[in-house]
Amino acid sequence: RVAIEIDHVCKRFGHDEHAVLALDSIALKIRENEFFTLLGPSGCGKTTLLRMIAGFEDVSGGDIRLYGESLSGKLPFQRPVNTVFQSYALFPHLTVEQNVAFGLEMRGFKQADIKPIVAEKLELVKLGGFARRRPHQLSGGQQQRVALARALAPSPKVLLLDESLSALDLKLRKEMQVELKRLQRETGITFVFVTHDQEEALTMSDRIAVMSAGKLQQVGSPEDIYDRPANRFVADFIGETSFLQGRVADGLLHFGQAGSLPGQVLDQSHEGAAALAVRPERLQLSTSGSGLAGVVSEVVYRGVDTVYTVQLADGQPCRVRSSNSAGAARLAREGDTVAITALPGAFHRLQEADH
Ligand code: ADP
Ligand code: MG
Repeated sequence: RVAIEIDHVCKRFGHDEHAVLALDSIALKIRENEFFTLLGPSGCGKTTLLRMIAGFEDVSGGDIRLYGESLSGKLPFQRPVNTVFQSYALFPHLTVEQNVAFGLEMRGFKQADIKPIVAEKLELVKLGGFARRRPHQLSGGQQQRVALARALAPSPKVLLLDESLSALDLKLRKEMQVELKRLQRETGITFVFVTHDQEEALTMSDRIAVMSAGKLQQVGSPEDIYDRPANRFVADFIGETSFLQGRVADGLLHFGQAGSLPGQVLDQSHEGAAALAVRPERLQLSTSGSGLAGVVSEVVYRGVDTVYTVQLADGQPCRVRSSNSAGAARLAREGDTVAITALPGAFHRLQEADH
């Protein structure tokens, strides 16, 4: 069931020749109970889209519907939608429970109803014992939980989260990622989560919309986006990618003087020149044996793995990632002659129109 339909939404800031087209005909459907992520670099329009769903910003074109009903003309507080901002925006002079109660009072809930809801939401975010504290007596992670409890208190149908974890340090951010997933599952509320962090998006989302410069690039599951990027932008933005030019002929994938690989390393088989994207972890390196010929130009040791940059014999650079799980020593050093082999389907053919 579709919860939110973004129907060819445009957003223009300013007038005439100074206008900025922040969103260019965005069309997508967000399902009920989904953890849906808007992912893209800074300035691509994520916050603008979220603010339009919340009602803080008008649409310049198109329409946004919630369960089939247009939100046009509805003020923010008339929408069953709530937002968690990056800055927690807690009231410093109010206690934790007063902060959580605030939105309920604004919405005209009766005092007798407010108390049990506040207690329940504080339990939900694991802050049961913190009701009487003030924000300055809490850690950053705890303040974030208060902001979540406050946003969840009126039981919105949709919760919007704008870079909500960005202010937290890495370890706390990982904890809160798990926590947010749990909250989404337990409440069954549709989450629309905004981040510029591709790893965060892959970890948390049921589906992801990748955006760039106001345009929608791809919508899909984390696996879709990672394994079958729709274009060069998505392949480059998500994970690590080497872009190579090859040629398919006689059931082989040829790379000029570097040699060729069996055709099954490519995810589809039609013949001719091919613009390719390949993930470094789907390639293997050896100093003896057959494969694409090249010379190691850089070795980066990263603890769990080591990344080798190989200059192929046809001049194209290509990265290979090797897991250090077996405690293996370095496979090769700079200047070594090596051979690269690939797992089946490792190479993804990009649309010709992209380059
Ligand atoms: P993101 O959240 O992805 O970083 P934003 O939605 O904040 O991107 O911004 C998208 C584009 O719209 C940017 O070019 C930004 O400068 C522009 N923009 C956002 N808000 C305004 C505004 N109030 N007036 C003019 N331009 C704006
Ligand atoms: Mg933003």
